[in-house]
Amino acid sequence: MSEEKACRNCGMILSHGNVCPICGSKDLTNKWNSYVVILNFEKSAIAQKLNININSTFAIDVK
Ligand SMILES: [Zn+2]
Repeated sequence: MSEEKACRNCGMILSHGNVCPICGSKDLTNKWNSYVVILNFEKSAIAQKLNININSTFAIDVK
């Protein structure tokens, strides 16, 4: 089972830790249906749509 957790607030997927480094939320879950990988947030339409300003992996459809 994966140790990864996703922030319910912003969707950031954390490979470790219990606090989201982006929004500081501790409301994490290990259940999500899919995720997006943002490689270049400045040019990504998805990143803009999701209001993401960091290159990382983000869960979408978080449970
Ligand atoms: Zn967050």
